Amino acid sequence: MAKKQFRTESKRILDLMVNSIYTNKEIFLRELISNASDAIDKLYFRSLTDQSVGMSRSDFAIDLAIDKDARTLTVSDNGIGMTAEELEKNLGTIAHSGSLDFTKNNELSDEIDIIGQFGVGFYSAFMVADRISVTSRAFGADSANRWESEGGDGYTVSPAEKETAGTEIVLHLKENTEHDKFDEFLDPWRVSSIVKRYSDYIRYPIRMEMEHQQRKETEEKDENGNPKVEYETTKSVDTLNSMVPIWKRNKKDVTDEEYKSFYKEKFYDYAEPLRVIHQKAEGTTEYQALLYIPSHAEFNYYSKDFERGLQLYSSGVMIMERCADLLPEYFGFVKGLVDSEDLSLNISREMLQHDRQLTLIRTALEKRIKHELSDMLEKSREDYEKFWNTFGLTIKFGIYQSYGANRGQLEDLLLFRRASDGKLVTLKEYADAMPEGQKYCYYAAGESFEKLSKLPQTELLRDKGYDLLCLTDTVDEFLFQILHSYSEKDFRSVSSGDLGLESDEEKAEQEKLEGEYKELFDCMKEALGDRVTEVRLSSSLKTHPVCLTAKGAVSLEMEKVLNTMPG
Ligand code: ADP
Ligand code: MG
Repeated sequence: MAKKQFRTESKRILDLMVNSIYTNKEIFLRELISNASDAIDKLYFRSLTDQSVGMSRSDFAIDLAIDKDARTLTVSDNGIGMTAEELEKNLGTIAHSGSLDFTKNNELSDEIDIIGQFGVGFYSAFMVADRISVTSRAFGADSANRWESEGGDGYTVSPAEKETAGTEIVLHLKENTEHDKFDEFLDPWRVSSIVKRYSDYIRYPIRMEMEHQQRKETEEKDENGNPKVEYETTKSVDTLNSMVPIWKRNKKDVTDEEYKSFYKEKFYDYAEPLRVIHQKAEGTTEYQALLYIPSHAEFNYYSKDFERGLQLYSSGVMIMERCADLLPEYFGFVKGLVDSEDLSLNISREMLQHDRQLTLIRTALEKRIKHELSDMLEKSREDYEKFWNTFGLTIKFGIYQSYGANRGQLEDLLLFRRASDGKLVTLKEYADAMPEGQKYCYYAAGESFEKLSKLPQTELLRDKGYDLLCLTDTVDEFLFQILHSYSEKDFRSVSSGDLGLESDEEKAEQEKLEGEYKELFDCMKEALGDRVTEVRLSSSLKTHPVCLTAKGAVSLEMEKVLNTMPG
């Protein structure tokens, strides 16, 4: 039989797949299963109006089978099937339906990236198989056909036997190489875990014969008189996927327990999350989101290696493991997923960035998370402080990195320790507690709360009943410079030299004294040399005779901290 050649663009993708060095080869199964699910969808919808289909929803299924000796993995469905022409059109040509238009994209490296992100449908099976045979019988046709290919050198289509409508895809797995192990796809447990990972929420059952070890106590006794135990291997056809995603269910039908165990299982966390957000949006953008605020940070959270992002699903099929574009960076600690019917399975990363739906989702999620955090701050202070101690730095960086552009979003989430009692307070709580006449929000920045609360400059403030915020993160003082003020009161550092406490007369008096003592100060400056830039009269001291102050952008205390940090 004459071999037919693939179309040029298909051939390029094939070469890419055959020689793929992509590490996530397992996604081929997701692609085949979602094709099977699409094919079933088509026949199922037809059955709703066409009596001759003679099938009901529960008759549909996707079956997986492993033959270790033959080294094959088979994926079959009882969906709509394909005619000989369709086999040729659909499998001989890539970019047929929703697939990407690869002809426009000539960069090979980009293509590999696309495999990583989305897979490219049927052809991805050539990453693991060196021969694929597809036997299909279209619904309503009276014969079946087989499409066969070993990859690059073309394919054949020939008549075949198949009793019922649907498609059976047999993958002849590649032999192991030094770098790649293809045997793993012959292990039922491995295959089952891939199904759970990517296709758990496919709406039809995905079944496979599984072996189970069953413990059995025998009549015989061991030396201690206990019954001897035997293990019996039983086989059963199991449904591997759970079919109804928890996020598609109604909030009121899902228990707290279910939300939490789903989280632990899905995101590999041993600890319960602080908060669960389950959102179902209808209207112009339809989506469901299930988000979690973790109670602790991952070990690499504050490192460059941390990959943030939410899982992205399209109609129950996971299309991206970590979609960073769904959240602003400062909410990068949030875990969870978003499912939207409006996104196509083969959407590219570039397309995602400009996707209007995605932008709307992102804006809505950001608002929702902000709301959840404010709510926690208001109603469960203990939880919030726990959150703050773990992720507070991220929020600060969020304001810092955007030069304060998103302060409205975040500034009310900030907490700082106040000097009077060491409690963590919001800027609002600090401002609300200000006595009448206090003109500024005072702060001191430095290494530790203990040191800051003992600064000589704080004495006069305390006399007046003015509190101050103690900033101990290196980013804090820069953050305050960006924020500049809170509720119309400027921030003022206690080491700025001028606390703004004295009246106009007192100020004039101060200036007069400065002039009178000029000679003394010049003399002191000369004696101290390069160790100081200036000697001045201070108005911020009470019992202490002298204090050190920085003239630059940051306080002396913070300068010290910065100097100790590695380059
Ligand atoms: P996509 O799913 O994006 O269209 P694929 O490469 O995964 O791209 O599949 C190409 C086409 O082959 C599908 O659009 C569909 O028409 C057909 N096809 C693939 N698998 C099946 C199947 N199991 N049953 C029926 N048609 C299928
Ligand atoms: Mg597909």
